[in-house]
Amino acid sequence: MKHKNQVFDNVLDLVGNTPLVKLNKITSQLNGHFYAKVEAFNPGHSSKDRIALYIIEQAEKQGLLKPGDTIIETTSGNTGFSIAMVSIIKGYDCILAVSSKSSADKIDMLRTMGAKVYVCPANVSADDPRSYYEVAKRLHEEIKGSVYINQYFNQLNIDTHYQSTGPEIWKQTEGKITHLVACSGTGGTISGTAKYLKEQNPDIKILGVDAFGSVLKKFHETKEFDEKEIYPYRIEGLGKNLIPAATDFNIIDEFIKVTDEESAHTARQIAKSEGLFVGYTSGAAMQAVLQLGKTKTFSTNDVVVVIFPDHGSRYMSKIYSDKWMNEQGFFDSVNVESVQDIQY
Ligand code: PMP
Repeated sequence: MKHKNQVFDNVLDLVGNTPLVKLNKITSQLNGHFYAKVEAFNPGHSSKDRIALYIIEQAEKQGLLKPGDTIIETTSGNTGFSIAMVSIIKGYDCILAVSSKSSADKIDMLRTMGAKVYVCPANVSADDPRSYYEVAKRLHEEIKGSVYINQYFNQLNIDTHYQSTGPEIWKQTEGKITHLVACSGTGGTISGTAKYLKEQNPDIKILGVDAFGSVLKKFHETKEFDEKEIYPYRIEGLGKNLIPAATDFNIIDEFIKVTDEESAHTARQIAKSEGLFVGYTSGAAMQAVLQLGKTKTFSTNDVVVVIFPDHGSRYMSKIYSDKWMNEQGFFDSVNVESVQDIQY
């Protein structure tokens, strides 16, 4: 059991060393053995605790931060929460430029954790002065001595997972892992974890998960940035409208695209079948596994690790709300009736 009988100096000592949990029911129709790396067991309930702590401690080592300094970031929520948590313990101010696509729950949480939050429009191009990238850049220039984490373009994002997530999975599977399935947003998780794993065994297949409406899969296949691939979608934290430098495209064997609708239903199915209450992108990653399973990608002795990046509590007003699901047209007529029943 994680940290049984241990006492910790502060919450940051609990970052990393997340459990690997066998999936028993949701994969019962597929060949192979399936395990989830459940990142919700981090104290900030997501994999982003790892990069917040690692990148801030690297900046401290380089003498870039002293108590009272400001840390700035763009974030869909999870990274912001993690930076805010680290900032509280270490005594920094935290400013976050957030996409308006982020859930109200997430924004409230960031403010509760002491962060100053700027909500920026989601559907403008990355170089628009109103975009969260540009707002963060401007604030970094204006605030003297501030550190900009810049997770999409920071090599330390990859290094974090090379140092922690990769070795943990290798140890937990006793070197038996054959496939890694991970969502790609900044690309840090998949790239760093894959780098470590491929160094141990170059035959391990690295499967990235991308959203429809994102450019990553097309870029991986053609090396071209195709603007026509970009359109709004609902999953937060997955896919991108730019090419992140924190993604090592060469280490990824294949990208799998998943839909908003199927990912939402699959997240609900994970909760109901495995008792794991996980976020939207966990549903996306699991959906990719189910799609790959149908194409006979996995065989009986394969050991497949799928990363579940965060906790379901962050999506109560989205995929875990029947009302929201209904508004998106994600429910069939049977479920719509049940929504009406609840209203009586
Ligand atoms: N899932 C969620 C919920 C996220 O916030 C992110 C990060 N944007 C990811 C998955 C993808 O992780 P990474 O940025 O390391 O590619």
